[in-house]
Amino acid sequence: MDSHTPSELDWALSTLAIRAGHERTHEQEHAEPIFPTSSFVYGSAAEAAAKFSGEEPGNIYSRFTNPTVRTFERRLAALEGGERCVATSSGMAAILSTALALLEAGDEIVASRSLFGSTVSLFDKYLGKFGITTRYVELADLAAWEAAMTPATKLLFAETPSNPLSEVVDIAALAEIAHRHGALLAIDNCFLTPALQRPLDLGADLVIHSATKYLDGQGRAIGGAVVGRDKELEEVFGVVRTCGPCLSPFNAWIFTKGLETLALRMRAHCENAQALAEWLEAHPAVARVHYSGLESHPQHGLAARQQRGFGAVLGFEVKGSEVKGDREAAWSVIDATRLLSITGNLGDVKTTITHPATTTHGRLSDAQKAAAGISEGLIRVAVGLEAIDDIRADLARGLDALV
Ligand SMILES: *Cc1c(COP(=O)(O)O)cnc(C)c1O
Repeated sequence: MDSHTPSELDWALSTLAIRAGHERTHEQEHAEPIFPTSSFVYGSAAEAAAKFSGEEPGNIYSRFTNPTVRTFERRLAALEGGERCVATSSGMAAILSTALALLEAGDEIVASRSLFGSTVSLFDKYLGKFGITTRYVELADLAAWEAAMTPATKLLFAETPSNPLSEVVDIAALAEIAHRHGALLAIDNCFLTPALQRPLDLGADLVIHSATKYLDGQGRAIGGAVVGRDKELEEVFGVVRTCGPCLSPFNAWIFTKGLETLALRMRAHCENAQALAEWLEAHPAVARVHYSGLESHPQHGLAARQQRGFGAVLGFEVKGSEVKGDREAAWSVIDATRLLSITGNLGDVKTTITHPATTTHGRLSDAQKAAAGISEGLIRVAVGLEAIDDIRADLARGLDALV
């Protein structure tokens, strides 16, 4: 597919984010247009026949292709350095479409344990119904990935860095394991985006996105995407075209405009997160901060090598006391905020705060929480773009009261 014009191949990421994929119509509009249309018309019966048979390229129906969606797909493909991108109605639709396209009954997935909750439900509850089984391993433990491989393993799936403990896996090493066993590696690149990490350059085969998060960056719409080679993406496209989890033109337009500020926003998110992490680490009420941008993080070196920034999702554990247990202490810090949004969402210019043990990870058993490092004192903050002094002051209110 001709996803990039020759000049696009030389552009820097911030330029691609603003310029890639835009084809002007005869109206000569400056900004990217929206095509809110379900279907397209033909000049003649012969043209209709040629388009339906695939002899002639062109739009038929917006479940198949839509020009606004195509602009978003081309722009994101350029940013991730992939041959092709297929947009979907949500991040979960991207993961489902990938699985339906590339797996069949009897195949196995090996995945990191610390995945987005709905991804685990999709793998276990729904793919499991169709004879696809998933084995989970510790994200950073390459020997565990290797040991979980069988001849039936077709897909390795990881989120790196993990949420909320900011653990990291060596993507190049994981790709080597996958390929040696004839499997594909998919990386959910939601937390870093191509502005900070390009998994395809490191050997991954597929990149998954929830565009709902940083690609939009302002909490306005739900959408997703898969990026990779033509070969696999043609199969993913077949699923989206046939089964229907397509992205709406309006949402595609929002994401396209969101991408224009991606590099700038991610840089600012990282700066705020780094400053907050350093401040939290020095606060007497905080026992531990989990952020790969800190030198105290066990995988700081790997993260620094593999990523162009450390992202903006961090976890920190507050110290409970005899008066206030760990959960009460964490809740008191959350409840003392006035500015931060108490919500499980992330990837927004607005800073969000949540207590994983009773929200995002609330369905896990105590043993599962302990294995995943989700303690009662743990708080997750997805650092937004408000002034860092205001974010710090909002957290200081509750933290200072604990000491
Ligand atoms: C939100 C999220 C998803 C799911 O995306 P939706 O757009 O909500 O369907 C998948 N993976 C990660 C890491 C996420 O944060």
